[in-house]
Amino acid sequence: MGRYDFQPGVPLGQLVGQANLLLTCKACVWRGTYDLRKVIAQLLARDVNGPLIGICAAAAHVRIPCPRCGKWTWETRPDYINTIPPGIPERKKPAAP
Ligand SMILES: [Zn+2]
Repeated sequence: MGRYDFQPGVPLGQLVGQANLLLTCKACVWRGTYDLRKVIAQLLARDVNGPLIGICAAAAHVRIPCPRCGKWTWETRPDYINTIPPGIPERKKPAAP
C-alpha cells in the first residue's frame, strides 16, 4: 500500500487518469469506486465546476444515500490506479529471446 499523504482538496481534474473516486460510508463502511471522469461529468451537468472540486469536498456533492444503511455520511478520497509510488522506476522486463 502507498502512503496516504494526499492533500485534502486535490482538485478532481488533477486526479483524472491517476485515481478514481473512492466513496466510503462512515456509518457502515460500505464503499464503492466511481470513475472520476463520470463523476466530473455529473457535477458539470449540475453546474458544479467538477474539475475544481477537491477530492474531499466532493463528499458534500454526493446525491445518493448509502445503498446499505441509507445514511448520507460520505467520505471521499482518491483510489489511485497506479500503485507504484512516484519516484520508483518501473522494473524493466527482461527482453524476450
Ligand atoms: Zn452506510
